[in-house]
Amino acid sequence: MNFNSALENIKSYEAGKPIELVVREYGIDKDHIVKLASNENPFGCSPKVKDAVRTIIDNMSLYPDDSMVKLKSALVKKYDISSDELVIGAGSDQVIEFAIHAKAHSGSKVLMNSVTFAMYEIYAKQVGAIIVRTASREHNMEEFYALYQEHKPSIIFLCTPNNPTGDALDAQEMISFIEKVDKDTLVIVDGAYMEYARFKDPSKAVEPKDLIQKFDNVLFLGTFSKAYGLGGMRVGYGIAAAPIIKALYKVRPPFNITTLSLEAASVALEDEAFVTECIADNFKEMKRYEAFAHKKGIQIIDSYTNFVTLSLLQGQNSSEIAQALLKKGMIIRDLSSYGLNAIRVTIGTQVQNSRFFELAEPLL
Ligand SMILES: *Cc1c(COP(=O)(O)O)cnc(C)c1O
Repeated sequence: MNFNSALENIKSYEAGKPIELVVREYGIDKDHIVKLASNENPFGCSPKVKDAVRTIIDNMSLYPDDSMVKLKSALVKKYDISSDELVIGAGSDQVIEFAIHAKAHSGSKVLMNSVTFAMYEIYAKQVGAIIVRTASREHNMEEFYALYQEHKPSIIFLCTPNNPTGDALDAQEMISFIEKVDKDTLVIVDGAYMEYARFKDPSKAVEPKDLIQKFDNVLFLGTFSKAYGLGGMRVGYGIAAAPIIKALYKVRPPFNITTLSLEAASVALEDEAFVTECIADNFKEMKRYEAFAHKKGIQIIDSYTNFVTLSLLQGQNSSEIAQALLKKGMIIRDLSSYGLNAIRVTIGTQVQNSRFFELAEPLL
């Protein structure tokens, strides 16, 4: 059967292997598998969220509140914005999809970093857009500007902190770049790990309110999947000037967020103390990864996220190492599909991290 020809050069997204698959493929007991592959919060979500979700379990027969009033008011309050500057997606992934479908079309150009979140390319290719990438591994604003001038892209993605490398842009430097960009270019600032960056170094922190007050062509993305520990609930959001949000609403399917997810995300915002504790623990544990890499002479990229990226040495093969770890029940991310001989490891609990060091010790 023939399909839309735009699909021909799309490679499906390769998600971190689910635990269930490793149980089946390698016959390893579920309790002995550690998944440090998708940057989830190892402590899960606030206990208050679990209690709240239990109390609404009987409400599943009705469609969700499509105005999302509870979650929207909580986010409006958190970010001091107005509700017409906010859209909620089934993960920020879905907001990326909305933005690309609303702005780009066949032949549009989409500019992004050489190594970055894979979904930008996948959604862009769905509409037949052309991908333009910088050369450096880390975001380089000069390269971005040169390619911007050459290609006049309709969308620019800035992923800060960047996945899968963990580095983050200086907020001021990013703003200076956006000031030079034409108002008809949509600049998408993906802040999936912004909570971590803000904690580690305020000079990397982007305030969505400042950003959208200053620029009417910027869309900021946030998610509940990482620091808030709700990856399974699929809730993310976009913050932008009202005309952008209005356009995104035209491509949004109705009832895109379930009742349980709306409740979980709303209540998660009531327990920021939980999230801050998890983030503090994350950076404490990150020091152990830094020490491990240092001991092995492996380069570790300075990370503003809940994962570390280890650039392996010559003679160490990231795919083989990921595979060897997998056979022992340790799921991490091989970055060879990004053209890097590197592995990405999500920072887990103290026990999970110790297990990683124990298993990786003889391999690296
Ligand atoms: C995880 C991630 C997202 C999307 O997460 P959702 O679960 O769809 O909210 C977006 N961007 C980056 C860079 C990510 O790492």
